Amino acid sequence: MEPTSLIKSITRLTKTQADALKRIGLFNLQDLLLYFPNRHEDSGSFKKILDLENGTRVIIQGQIKSIKKEVSFKSRIPLTRAKIIDGTGTLEVTWLHQPYIATMLKEGENITLSGTVNLKNSKRSILNPDILKTNKDMSTSLFNDSSDNFTILPVYPETKGLNAKWFYYTIQKIIAVGIHKKIIDPLPQSVLDTYHLPKLESALLWMHMPRQQADHRAAQKRFAFEEILYIEIERLRARAEYQSHGAYTVNTDVTDFIKSLPFTLTTGQKTVLADVLKDCEQKIPMTRLLEGDVGSGKTAIAATLSHAVINTHSPNKKNEYLQVLYMAPTEILANQHFESFTKMFAPFGKTIGLLTSNSCKKYPSKSISMKSADVEWTPVSRTQLLKWAADGSIDILIGTHSLMSKSVVMRHFALAIIDEQHRFGSKQRHALISKDGYAPHLLSMTATPIPRTLALTIFGDLDLSLLDEMPAGRKPIITKFINRGGRIDMYKHIREELEKGRQSYVICPRIDERDEEAKPKTGSKNSGGLRSVNEEAKILAKGELAGYRIGVLHGKMKPSEKEDIMEKYLRHDLDVLVATSVVEVGVNVPNASIIIIEEAERFGAAQLHQLRGRVIRGTHQSYCYLVSDSGSEKSGKRLTSLVETKSGFELAEADMMERGPGQFAGVKQSGMSDIAMEALKNIRLVEAAKKEARAILESDKELKKHPEISARLKLREKIIHFE
Ligand code: ADP
Ligand code: MG
Repeated sequence: MEPTSLIKSITRLTKTQADALKRIGLFNLQDLLLYFPNRHEDSGSFKKILDLENGTRVIIQGQIKSIKKEVSFKSRIPLTRAKIIDGTGTLEVTWLHQPYIATMLKEGENITLSGTVNLKNSKRSILNPDILKTNKDMSTSLFNDSSDNFTILPVYPETKGLNAKWFYYTIQKIIAVGIHKKIIDPLPQSVLDTYHLPKLESALLWMHMPRQQADHRAAQKRFAFEEILYIEIERLRARAEYQSHGAYTVNTDVTDFIKSLPFTLTTGQKTVLADVLKDCEQKIPMTRLLEGDVGSGKTAIAATLSHAVINTHSPNKKNEYLQVLYMAPTEILANQHFESFTKMFAPFGKTIGLLTSNSCKKYPSKSISMKSADVEWTPVSRTQLLKWAADGSIDILIGTHSLMSKSVVMRHFALAIIDEQHRFGSKQRHALISKDGYAPHLLSMTATPIPRTLALTIFGDLDLSLLDEMPAGRKPIITKFINRGGRIDMYKHIREELEKGRQSYVICPRIDERDEEAKPKTGSKNSGGLRSVNEEAKILAKGELAGYRIGVLHGKMKPSEKEDIMEKYLRHDLDVLVATSVVEVGVNVPNASIIIIEEAERFGAAQLHQLRGRVIRGTHQSYCYLVSDSGSEKSGKRLTSLVETKSGFELAEADMMERGPGQFAGVKQSGMSDIAMEALKNIRLVEAAKKEARAILESDKELKKHPEISARLKLREKIIHFE
């Protein structure tokens, strides 16, 4: 048998099992060896027989005191009955329909079992327990070490049709025949040496049958490093591929435009602007991610760069100019950008188009030569707008995802600005490359703070610019922590603000009340329990905020419904918006001055920071109420001070360490394993993997000298494709 032998060559598969394996992309023995346990039971989680409680699922270790084959008295079912002892008591075990177990196991043998305890008249028993380990398993082990009592048990993630035990047994079989020794290690020896990583053979053994925690950790580190190295290589190659296309070089004189802005740029804006302008002067396309809190002024940077582009002559046609495409995540945002761009570009006589699935607009309405701030936009047909984009007479085309349609073609497409689209991956990027081979410069913008290790991995094909300074002159937001007692005053304050003509957000963690039991039990309306958007809206409408116009917004609504509600809120046809955290990436509603975050303890600090950012941009004094009925005053104070003092970027780092990387956009979709995700907390590991990825590609661009790495990358591609 070889690593590439099919799984069915080592164990018989039922149809269900074969289907399940196919579904999760496991075909041969090597695939299965690379299927890792997601946790290990160690002796700490084993129970003593005396401590077994009725109805609990347990793992116990003991010695077989007696074992025999029987037939049940009434129903004549063949079975095995055994008594297990561990020095604290006796456990009775019965395996129905499995008389052969009696012939497999012997008295005096040590055994590890798992199952659900039945306790009756102080007799403890388990029916049909799983046998996790016996003395015999040890004979297949490489460690013929009698002091080794094998107390670390791998537990594999289950999938429909394949339970943890199946994985355990099958993988043990594969190891027993030594397949793990036949797989060639993809990592060069020099890399293993530099970072003190175990070689593949040992690492595989330590993942599936670790003898001690330290070995297991070393193995995890090795596989995390390996996976992150692959991700780095993939990203670097994607980047190189994109950059292999030529780009228009942009003439970067923007002094006039900057002078025309109604404010002076912050130092942060100037720095970022210098970065992007320098990138766009090159003949290779920029691929840059701009990360900056809500309200930090990313649009001004996008606009200034756009100005540079649309005032650069096309190298092919001297009297024509380069063009810009600006993609927003929602229709409302596209509209908002269109409006602010028409204002900013009014003095420069440029033409701006808006293309969404619902409307197409062109600015200015009349001739391009009219240079007046009063010029209006005009609705146009989609066909006409697309024609203008294609013949180069629209300078900046703003829109939603509909800009990605094949029918959208620009004559001199030089810059793509992508606002808040976490799924804008390399495939979408590829679609931007024009037929003549030119790739647009790419500026991706996000208000979602990304920890550094993520920026280096999932977003590793992008250069990162941080905008970590807010424009001056904003009133600092007032953040308050509220528990039970504070609600009355809070609602009073909200009513006052609403009376002044302001608007308010109320954020709840859930859409619907899922759990009847979790409902407030005290009878008082606002006394706690899981807050849901729908219920909260009803309670507020009947109680504290009766008479105000209340809308509901959550992620399960259709995009058109969401847009509709947002539109109403923006037009101030609603006073209060009760929403889930979907408003995180949303619309600028300058009139909204209050945000209440219910069950604030459920959100990570970075997320709170972002939610709070929703009300940070108006000219009015804004307030953020962090409400928690269950959280302690102390944890509330901690949250408040965190959110107030740290930047979004710092909070993201802290959240990642505390709550793991899975909560960040793009991580779950990346298909990264749990082990690699855990390693995202380790900046040194990620940096090392990146460094090695670079070194490998520099000396061996086609990976000819690293055939194993090349094979793994192809496999990854297939599996990702397959998912
Ligand atoms: P975001 O980074 O969230 O996209 P915007 O670009 O929409 O932020 O900017 C938020 C607000 O701040 C806008 O009203 C914009 O006009 C204003 N603004 C941007 N830069 C400055 C600045 N340097 N000084 C003052 N106000 C600014
Ligand atoms: Mg923005």
